[in-house]
Amino acid sequence: MRNVLLVVSGPSGVGKGTLVKELITRREDVVESVSCTTRAPRAGEVDGKHYFFLSEEEFSRRIEEGDFLEYDEHMSGKYGTPRSFVKEKLKEKSVIMEIDVVGGLNAKKEYPGLILVFIMPPSKEELVRRLTGRNSETPEAIEKRLARMDFELSKLPEYDYVIVNDDFETALKELSDLIDNEKSK
Ligand code: 5GP
Repeated sequence: MRNVLLVVSGPSGVGKGTLVKELITRREDVVESVSCTTRAPRAGEVDGKHYFFLSEEEFSRRIEEGDFLEYDEHMSGKYGTPRSFVKEKLKEKSVIMEIDVVGGLNAKKEYPGLILVFIMPPSKEELVRRLTGRNSETPEAIEKRLARMDFELSKLPEYDYVIVNDDFETALKELSDLIDNEKSK
């Protein structure tokens, strides 16, 4: 059995974070990659656990040194996957990165063996319902997220697997099974 590197992407509100967290709780042979970011930590976020929080200078230095497998800028700041961290973890376990489609496709160019997994909502209506249920989103923010979803969906043909997150346990099993399948190749 080999260790594999996976990217899990999908529109916000689809529940990919919850799926990945639960998978990691249940499987000892899979860990989540920790990204670097220039955004400030939110309440409860721990440096080195949720993200490595870097200054703009440090982030730029790491880009120059080629330490990112991929990096991108989002509204809230810059984000990158540290190559050294992923390489070390892969020696012992399979690694999951939860990043957007742009980051996922860039990472695949750098690491062709990487497996791209897209998590889909059962429908657009259901995604709107989940986003509205968060209560933290303004109608404008929801509109923006939906526009972003159309862009993300346009990259779907380049992904290796698609999982529909309708029933949580079913989606979790599909994710876990595909990892087993890839590990045994
Ligand atoms: P947040 O600040 O809410 O944790 O994440 C904001 C966005 O950054 C999310 O869309 C998340 O997927 C993306 N993100 C997190 N880590 C990385 C990374 O290492 N690389 C890229 N390209 N995007 C990331």
